[in-house]
Amino acid sequence: MKFSNDQIPPVFYSDLQAKPLENCVMCGKDVLHSNEVYMIEKVIKNGRSESEYAICFTCASKMKGNMSVESEANLAAYFESNPRLKSMQDFYEGEEEVAVDDLLKACLIKGTPVSELEEYQLGGVFKGDKLYPAALPFVLSLEAMMEINDLLSAETKRELDDFIDEIDDLPPEWKEIFKTKKPLLV
Ligand SMILES: [Zn+2]
Repeated sequence: MKFSNDQIPPVFYSDLQAKPLENCVMCGKDVLHSNEVYMIEKVIKNGRSESEYAICFTCASKMKGNMSVESEANLAAYFESNPRLKSMQDFYEGEEEVAVDDLLKACLIKGTPVSELEEYQLGGVFKGDKLYPAALPFVLSLEAMMEINDLLSAETKRELDDFIDEIDDLPPEWKEIFKTKKPLLV
């Protein structure tokens, strides 16, 4: 499969700066102009970006390393048991060209249209100014975000909170958002 348009979709741009995010939120690396794979996550509430950040693969791996075996198993089981996700994976594997706009119209897990969502998360994997091949960008409704948060063990939540506390440059209000709506690191 390939994307019909592999440029960073404008919905992933920084709302504050109206251009692509450039730096890893954790280590400050210029991910837009490096060769490193990175993720962008945004939380949109009432049509506005509540938080938005890029995180490089190195930092995301460190954060994921804080996840307990129990949490990882819970997440894997959650995604595997979701019929919508399974059928979408099968569908996109067979497609030659993936229309990114269509993917971003509804919650990946629940199928709820974005137009009906007050709050949702956007996630995608990128390299330079392009979508990373084979990693589908997604929308998660607040409902799905909360279900995922509930799957994390107490130990993982504590480890992630400690990790978030150690990031110096992160505004305090974002730290709170990170803690209640944990980034999806799968
Ligand atoms: Zn980083």
